[in-house]
Amino acid sequence: MRGTNSYLGSIGTTIFTVMSALAAEHQSINLGQGFPDTDGPDDVVRAAADALMDGRNQYPPMPGVTELRLAVAEANRRFHGLDVDGMRQVTVTSGATEALAACLMAVVNPGDEVVLIEPLYDTYAPMVRMLGAIPRFVRLQPPHWDLPRAELAAAFGPKTKAILFNTPMNPCSKVFTADELGFIAGLVEQHDTYAICDEVYEHLIFDGLRHIPLMTLPGMAERCMRIGSAGKTFSLTGWKVGYVTAPIALTPLIQKAHQNLTFTTAPNLQRAVAVGLGKDDAYFASLASDLQDRRDVLAAGLSAVGLTVLPAQGTYFVTADFAPLAASVGFNGDDVAFCRHITEQAGVTAIPVSAFYDAPDAPRHYARFAFCKRFEVLNDAIARLRRHFLGTA
Ligand code: PMP
Ligand code: GLN
Repeated sequence: MRGTNSYLGSIGTTIFTVMSALAAEHQSINLGQGFPDTDGPDDVVRAAADALMDGRNQYPPMPGVTELRLAVAEANRRFHGLDVDGMRQVTVTSGATEALAACLMAVVNPGDEVVLIEPLYDTYAPMVRMLGAIPRFVRLQPPHWDLPRAELAAAFGPKTKAILFNTPMNPCSKVFTADELGFIAGLVEQHDTYAICDEVYEHLIFDGLRHIPLMTLPGMAERCMRIGSAGKTFSLTGWKVGYVTAPIALTPLIQKAHQNLTFTTAPNLQRAVAVGLGKDDAYFASLASDLQDRRDVLAAGLSAVGLTVLPAQGTYFVTADFAPLAASVGFNGDDVAFCRHITEQAGVTAIPVSAFYDAPDAPRHYARFAFCKRFEVLNDAIARLRRHFLGTA
């Protein structure tokens, strides 16, 4: 047979699918793939159900339904003080995943370089490579995940077309500081590049920290494509409704990518997300505070088992260092072995953090645990780990 695509032939199945399948096989508590186990607000789900029944189920407008584009613009104003024209600057996509692809397509030509920050979400590097562009990786160093400024500056050069980064950041739960964002903005400006800002966790931020879109910094409104996801903002990850806020000059290009990728996104879900974005401030505040409580429960439980839990300033995830288990209980494997071990032996599943690195020299003593689960599920997971590693529940 004639050869097929060599790049796709060379990559594996995503770690989220692999670990969820392993969790199902062992009936283990799945703290791997990041999805809440309780659906988001009833009124948003009801709006989607009602919208299915009112006879508007044919193709919606390609860039998104008007009410959602206006709602995204209004949310930009309400939460971040951004002045956005919903009809000229917002595109609705099938999840943030499609938004990422469309934003890259809008600016990247084959051979261009795109700066990526490790540890990174698992689709970034494949997407860049599928476009024939070249990823340039810069690593944050655990346990503090500070931005290595000299290395970041060195990664930018004449071929750099864009930086793509994520704050609050999956998997390490870092929130970029105003100072770090200012540094990134300086490089973007100096090298005349674009920034693709994956901000799907913008509302999942803890301890009184504030999410700052790069787009709000001086000079950045013309260079940033800012991506949100209803999946995260409304705890409805299966809906796959994303949205991009971009400069007027870039939006037609993002929309041309979108028209050739999926063309549109389910109209009832779009209209329900517009309802969701109009919810009062209390909804967004309690979304974050509720997750923060869950983070605290899981972090305390993992510490009690003997893992060193790294700070988690946002997202659905805590990262835990299991190296101390070597001395306490004699566990000596790497992160892949650890995640398999706890799935099979303890009945709890996590994600090996090395999956979020491109090169084999990734750190191999961290596991990512999702805390977007019911308290009883988190407590059960902790009890299982205690029983397995400490012999007590
Ligand atoms: N970016 C990051 C950092 C994510 O964690 C996710 C989670 N799924 C996505 C993008 C994709 O979002 P969506 O499900 O809306 O495609
Ligand atoms: N974003 C989710 C995570 O990081 C999973 C998304 C997916 O399964 N593709 O766990």
